[in-house]
Amino acid sequence: MPANETPVTLQHIRAARERIAGKVERTPAVLSQSLSDRAGHPVHLKLEHHQATGAFKLRGASNAIATLSPQEKARGVVAASTGNHGRALAHAAKLEGIRAVICMSKLVPQNKLDAIRRLGADVRIVGNSQDDAQQEVDRLVAEEGLVMLPPFDHPDIIAGQGTLGLETMEQVPDASAVLVPLSGGGLASGVAAAVKGVSPSTKVIGISMARGAAMKASLDAGRPVQVEELPTLADSLGGGIGLDNRLTFAMCRSLLDDVILLSEDEIAAGIRHAYEREREIVEGAGAVGIAALLAGKVKAKGPMVAILSGRNIDMELHRRIVCGEAIGERAA
Ligand SMILES: *Cc1c(COP(=O)(O)O)cnc(C)c1O
Repeated sequence: MPANETPVTLQHIRAARERIAGKVERTPAVLSQSLSDRAGHPVHLKLEHHQATGAFKLRGASNAIATLSPQEKARGVVAASTGNHGRALAHAAKLEGIRAVICMSKLVPQNKLDAIRRLGADVRIVGNSQDDAQQEVDRLVAEEGLVMLPPFDHPDIIAGQGTLGLETMEQVPDASAVLVPLSGGGLASGVAAAVKGVSPSTKVIGISMARGAAMKASLDAGRPVQVEELPTLADSLGGGIGLDNRLTFAMCRSLLDDVILLSEDEIAAGIRHAYEREREIVEGAGAVGIAALLAGKVKAKGPMVAILSGRNIDMELHRRIVCGEAIGERAA
């Protein structure tokens, strides 16, 4: 499937960019001298962790909400996410003045719950697992008519995340490779569609943790498969791609040039390098591009861009990592 025939194309992404202009930040791309010296090619860091809400997820959430009809906006949106997607949805819904309900299980830590509640979202605590929370989402869709906006497998979410790829190619037009954190693949699908749309020869490389890399296992199997979810420093990359995945599996299969897997120690080294050498605080998922470069796992023939996707790490954990505590393989 060539880049102009995927379910989300450059045209959708350009439309998304007009829709969300003024609602999301255009984040900087900066040259990393230390990583360039190591790689032997210029390495640029796309500082998307500076995005409002601390992660790129605001792009997809803002685009999906802006695409709703007036009737859908009146009904409100719902999702089961304790992390960056829930936070982004709550933020974007508040800007539009529409209702957002975020469902989570009793196991969610208080600080995450507070952060989402502070954005004005209606938080529902149900059951003891993500599955229980999802059942409440399904009930709210069926009984109250709320619109479900999932974290990655949705065309407007993918197109919104793709705006990050458009910006990246404007800032580093000669990029030979773009390194993208990979979980459900909404980010990688959107960024790859944008990058390949404007520069077909630029490689797009997905990066996941070795522990529970659902998209990599699915690509290897040739169909969406379930993997065991394990604790990881890259917690925003955990979770499955959905056995009934509609869009991101096919897009990642046709658009990604490679997928790199990282150990927990390698991810910890990425977080540490970001802090000490780049003066940036990033979460595990946001550090995987840097980590892959440090581990010597990226083969490129020219300028590269690593997308730093988020910064929402527990600061106590961050402090332990940068102080050199051996958290690595024992995970967070
Ligand atoms: C969600 C997320 C990712 C992965 O995005 P997918 O679209 O699920 O692949 C990467 N980094 C951060 C910080 C995230 O919040």
